[in-house]
Amino acid sequence: MVKPKAKVDEEQCLSCGGCVSVCPKDAISLKNLRAYVDKEKCISCEICVNTCPIGAINMEAVD
Ligand code: SF4
Ligand code: SF4
Repeated sequence: MVKPKAKVDEEQCLSCGGCVSVCPKDAISLKNLRAYVDKEKCISCEICVNTCPIGAINMEAVD
């Protein structure tokens, strides 16, 4: 069973960069002014989920 990975709701993202700064694996970058998670790098620590000021990141099951 693969752990769920971080997923950004692009409609909500304010492009503040907070999640980009805290991710220990550099798995998040800003693309077209929205945060984007590289699921291959994500270790499911949920730090970004707890950092986003508007709750735009959730953990999502992956195949
Ligand atoms: S869950 Fe952790 S490793 Fe994955 S994107 Fe968020 S901060 Fe980075
Ligand atoms: S912390 Fe939230 S609002 Fe800020 S860039 Fe990341 S997903 Fe977007």
